[in-house]
Amino acid sequence: MDDQSKQDYRSFLARRRAELLERIGQAAHRAGREPSDIQLVAVSKTVGNDEVALAHEVGYSAFGENRPQELKRKAAAVRENPDLADVRFHMIGNLQTNKVNQVLGNAVLVHSLSSVHLAQAISRRSLALGSVTPCLMEVNVVGEETKKGFSPDEARAVLEEIASLDGICLKGLMAMAPARDAAAARRAFSGLRELRDELRERSGLEFAELSCGMSGDFEIAVEEGSTLVRLGRIVFDPTYDDV
Ligand SMILES: *Cc1c(COP(=O)(O)O)cnc(C)c1O
Repeated sequence: MDDQSKQDYRSFLARRRAELLERIGQAAHRAGREPSDIQLVAVSKTVGNDEVALAHEVGYSAFGENRPQELKRKAAAVRENPDLADVRFHMIGNLQTNKVNQVLGNAVLVHSLSSVHLAQAISRRSLALGSVTPCLMEVNVVGEETKKGFSPDEARAVLEEIASLDGICLKGLMAMAPARDAAAARRAFSGLRELRDELRERSGLEFAELSCGMSGDFEIAVEEGSTLVRLGRIVFDPTYDDV
């Protein structure tokens, strides 16, 4: 990017960020929640290092990536730049056990824990590194065949087993809602919250986090209790049409 387009893009990012924080704040207030309880994770999977640096300049520090290799690559680039010292990456996409190495040490939170097998791999690898990896269990709340994650019943069944693994710290749940269906999204998010409350009660874990809400449904997610909204297109794409 040349200097002029950087400047233009930075202004867009700053304007958009202010709008998003305003909308998140209003949704929080509608639900009697504190805006500070919701973290905006900027999903940077479609943009490069320059865009991440510009987004950081306008105030973002949490970024989401869905591919292990790309997450590792971006995290390495960030480490080279002292100005980006407070940038943190979240792993939000499908993670295969043979890719765990690329993510551990590079992500502050794995949103997409979707099998016991993966949990065991993360546990083993974290122990080898002498670290503990914060994770969310991904739940397929609407029962869509194509979506990854535990069914609610599986989540109930494996919670204790995963929670007992050393090297993993379970922080809550993550889900995706059907696209372009506000009523279905609301049902999915409220179902996720109820499941979180139930599992929290049963396990005695703090289990505070609910990762839900994307560009098309984040206000509904915040109204239903989301603590981590994962916003991609609406953060980075000036052509994304919201209405
Ligand atoms: C891409 C992606 C997002 C962001 O989606 P947008 O609709 O662009 O906001 C959120 N979560 C996951 C898991 C993703 O893969």
